[in-house]
Amino acid sequence: MKLLDRYEEVVGHQEIRRLRQLAAGLAGKTIVHVNSTQTGGGVAEILGWMIPMLEELGINARWEVISGPPEFYRITKAFHNGLQGRPVSLTSRDLDLHIEVNRENAQRLNLEADVVLVHDPQPMYLPQFTPSDRVGRWVWRCHVDASRPVRIVWKHLEGAVTRYAATVFSMAAFTRPLPCPMFVVPPSIDPLSDKNCSLPETERLDTLTRLDIDPERPLLVQVSRFDRFKDPLGVIAAYRLLKPYYPMLQLALAGGTADDDPEGAEVLRDVMEQAGDDPDIKVLMLPPDSHRIINALQRSAIVVLQKSTMEGFGLTVTEALWKGKPVIGGACGGITLQVHDHQTGFLVHSPAGAAYRTRYLLRNADKRQRMGRTGHEFVREHFLLTRQLRDYLTMLLSLDRQASNN
Ligand code: UDP
Repeated sequence: MKLLDRYEEVVGHQEIRRLRQLAAGLAGKTIVHVNSTQTGGGVAEILGWMIPMLEELGINARWEVISGPPEFYRITKAFHNGLQGRPVSLTSRDLDLHIEVNRENAQRLNLEADVVLVHDPQPMYLPQFTPSDRVGRWVWRCHVDASRPVRIVWKHLEGAVTRYAATVFSMAAFTRPLPCPMFVVPPSIDPLSDKNCSLPETERLDTLTRLDIDPERPLLVQVSRFDRFKDPLGVIAAYRLLKPYYPMLQLALAGGTADDDPEGAEVLRDVMEQAGDDPDIKVLMLPPDSHRIINALQRSAIVVLQKSTMEGFGLTVTEALWKGKPVIGGACGGITLQVHDHQTGFLVHSPAGAAYRTRYLLRNADKRQRMGRTGHEFVREHFLLTRQLRDYLTMLLSLDRQASNN
């Protein structure tokens, strides 16, 4: 069976037909995605399914990964933080190194394409160093909130943005005035992937046993890279507020680090220290291919937390909602698009708020189930991969039209 046909059952015949119709106008075109890591984080997650889907739709799709020395990732992590408004310290040597690594990668990577989609700031200077006859159009796909960046970071990136024909943001609130057309395309999840497909009950239970989690006792789960913005310490604080009332409560903090994130080890150390010797807090460092384990954890949770203080879109929230779990999420970024108070979960601003809302849900099984059902349908409607593909194809068609009109 063809890849796309498998999704018909989930999203309906019409949606798949629409995708094929849109893609017909782009048959034979070459699209290249460039990011900075093959594993870890939401971007890698999306590119993993998107490339084969585009291929099946008759578009030549490739995924290239920019690479550099460890210093490069420290600098681009600072860009990531600075774009989201956090103070950073960067020297002019750092900025030069960023440009230099882009220059080297432009020679190494195969960027020949009708459209190159550059994800986030790491590869943003590639257009400067790529002969203009190799690439038809450059599109910058920014995954984070760039509406209030710190000055030094934006001044540096602004120099690159002029080469782009268009930009794409996950939500309107993340954008900033730019000299090129802007598209808003929220991310999405693959409902049939190992991360999100339904799981045999025996596999779910075996996974819990292997992780030393008691399937009979209530479990709170947060899945996230060990990153300060994901606020794992706030999750532990919320759990500690609840524990005296629910002595049976367990908490799993599951994460890994992304290749392009050098701060992870430090955050993990703090988390371990905070967790101390509480046997009911499981801090799980999972290898990048642990999709079925994460799937089992999310399905086993009584409530899923994503207590971020700053967030791009928050695919972990989408994943949890799809599994029928109410989500208690930090009121930031794309979490606010997905978590609606009393409908799909609760937005919170502090560990105390998270504990308060969790307690409410622990007590109300009916409400949990109702919210879970609403969340699942909400994701089906708005945040499955077919919708995102449709948005991208529409954008590519409109860029293509523009090109042929010029
Ligand atoms: N993820 C994973 N292993 C981990 C941590 C996260 O596979 O140890 C996945 C998670 O399931 C989700 C993605 O990575 O699909 C994280 O995306 P999100 O948008 O939530 O956050 P980001 O890491 O991009 O900031």
